Amino acid sequence: MTPPDRSFAPSANVAQLKESATIAVSQRAKALRAEGRRIIDLGAGEPDFETPEPIRRAAKHALDHGATRYTATQGTIELRTAIAARATVRRGRGEVISPDEIVVSSGSKQSLFNACFCLFGAGDEVLIPTPSWTSYYEMVALARARPVAVMCNPASGFRVTPALLEAHATPQTRGVMLNSPVNPTGTVYTHAELGAILALARERSWWVLSDEIYLRIAYGGAATSSLDVAESRDRLVVVDGVAKAYAMTGWRIGWTISTVPLARTMTAFQSHTTFNSAAVSQAAALAALTSGDDVDGAVNDMVAKFRERRDAALAILATEPAIQVIPPDGAFYLFVRAPGAGTVSDAGTVFARRLLEDHDVAVVPGSAFRTPDWIRVSYATELSQVEEAIRRIVTAYAAS
Ligand code: PLP
Repeated sequence: MTPPDRSFAPSANVAQLKESATIAVSQRAKALRAEGRRIIDLGAGEPDFETPEPIRRAAKHALDHGATRYTATQGTIELRTAIAARATVRRGRGEVISPDEIVVSSGSKQSLFNACFCLFGAGDEVLIPTPSWTSYYEMVALARARPVAVMCNPASGFRVTPALLEAHATPQTRGVMLNSPVNPTGTVYTHAELGAILALARERSWWVLSDEIYLRIAYGGAATSSLDVAESRDRLVVVDGVAKAYAMTGWRIGWTISTVPLARTMTAFQSHTTFNSAAVSQAAALAALTSGDDVDGAVNDMVAKFRERRDAALAILATEPAIQVIPPDGAFYLFVRAPGAGTVSDAGTVFARRLLEDHDVAVVPGSAFRTPDWIRVSYATELSQVEEAIRRIVTAYAAS
């Protein structure tokens, strides 16, 4: 019997959509592991630590005390109050950030999507410093706006500058996506750099979506938030969450800090798509933000471990002088130039494939971030595994 034809024509909404390359790599690594291969997965953008115990304890308690039902779409008042209180302290200048300016979502990914969908539309252009996290381009396109890749210079750690943004701006430019520390490069913007970009955006009336999901994972002292430097929050959306800093990727809690009118629109939008994020996860996120020293100590320990792995990985990479790597000051990624870059087409994908098939190491090809000459190597994995995998990368590089 011939199988039924289940093919279909995707709608115009998703006709151009590509699967997340970062997720695809992780799933391929898992599939190979299931076949018995001992793959070291340096593809995942996910801390390998367990969620700190006080947070898990608070979640268990919450489950037994009613956190099993719908909450307000925008998030529980307790969680929004805690987020607003922290943001108010961070912002300073006597400016009070209200819980009404916060929208809690199921991960900062959803927060970013809400913001893109509610702010941008057909005919709009959005500047995306490149390389950038793969989903920015797709989210902007899903909103029917045009993602404009602003290619940055590797010599300066792929930092975007006001001059680069201006060179790509048109009268249709409506916004800019910022991320610091950056996925995939680990670059951290200084106070002055971020201030200059925000000043330009303000002058041009662009919206700034400031993705600060890696803010706590910085090695050269506290990283700067847009809340620290923005002259005005009129067109600023700060996006944050618990996934990376608190090792809470599976809980799916993120949020936006914006303005009351935008928060209302995003809440209305979310009320028709996913509604509230899981009640128990919101209780866990509240514990993450309010448990004080117990949890903060655990976060500091995790950051110290990331730093140790980064240093170890950089030391091993340095044994092969031909390898070019962006020195990272935050997040948990190394961005490495693939052998053959500049001559081999899509050198990053070629190298990533070789690493996976011949050396049992999973990394993400740079094409996922619109920089096909590079690969992204995550060191959110146990130290000895990171060291072993980096040694294999060096061996593979030297043999190329
Ligand atoms: N923003 C960046 C830059 C990321 O790398 C990720 C996850 O990899 C996210 C946002 C999404 O995080 P969440 O788990 O909060 O949705």
